[in-house]
Amino acid sequence: MRRLITRRRVLGALASLAGLSLLEYESLSGKWDHARIRPATAAEAWAKAMARLVAEPALAAGAMVHVGHSTHLLSIAGVRLLTDPWFDDPAFGAMAHAVGPAVRPEGLGPLGAILVTHDHADHADMPAMDRMDKRAAAIVATAGLAAKAKARGFTDVRVLAPWESTDVGAAKVTAVPAEHDVYEIGFVVEGAGRSVYFAGDSRLFPGIAAIGERFRPTAAILPVDGTRLRGGPLQVMRPEDAVEAARTLGSKLVFPSHAESYFSDPLAGHVIATHVAGANAAFAALARERLPGVQAKVPAPAEVCPLPV
Ligand SMILES: [Zn+2]
Ligand SMILES: [Zn+2]
Repeated sequence: MRRLITRRRVLGALASLAGLSLLEYESLSGKWDHARIRPATAAEAWAKAMARLVAEPALAAGAMVHVGHSTHLLSIAGVRLLTDPWFDDPAFGAMAHAVGPAVRPEGLGPLGAILVTHDHADHADMPAMDRMDKRAAAIVATAGLAAKAKARGFTDVRVLAPWESTDVGAAKVTAVPAEHDVYEIGFVVEGAGRSVYFAGDSRLFPGIAAIGERFRPTAAILPVDGTRLRGGPLQVMRPEDAVEAARTLGSKLVFPSHAESYFSDPLAGHVIATHVAGANAAFAALARERLPGVQAKVPAPAEVCPLPV
């Protein structure tokens, strides 16, 4: 009898281990991606921010309103462009928002374009895009992303290769090279005397110099959390890399990005991947020390940040 119970216990333990690893596999393979609807953390502030973009011509001409993580609303020459949408958790079945999003996708309001740098779940949240303004141009890195956007009902879908440009109203969007663990592009958006570079998830790479020379972007949004798989190469800039990138670009105003998530899946967080903790603050402190004359600004959700000319 005792032996039977013991065997049952052993078999039970094995079965639950097998069950857990199946769940883990399903989670990391993205099966549960974006299944948890996130509430807005700053919906009232968002509505006020959008009203300011209408009432204040200088902000309509050049402003960044932060949503969360790599998702930002740019207002350039009166055109609203959203970068790398991520609203609902988890991404990769394993990553969740620590901060934001400020607003839900259906509360964003009218959009001229949605810019997608690469096909990672924390940058290309298709269920969220399904709840946005479908009149927006979806400007994306790959044919695969274009097909996904079309499947969600976007009709104006444009794939840009590095150095190709496209117009959205009075704003000009140019794709620029990037380096990441998957194919990626960055974007430079120009208009009304402003130019802003959005680097997506890029590592620090030599091509940043060409982007600086070509555009001299007055503002830059640079990732800072230094994501890497354990034992693997760096996939995303660390705070010190972003400071070097900012120096090379010569921008007057720099925002850290991609540092507002945590690993909601314990295996991903402890075994598979790492990122720099407190990366926004680390970047701001390093930039103050090493880049005199450059403003480094950590934006809060729904904060309206004017972009310099
Ligand atoms: Zn990525
Ligand atoms: Zn990312």
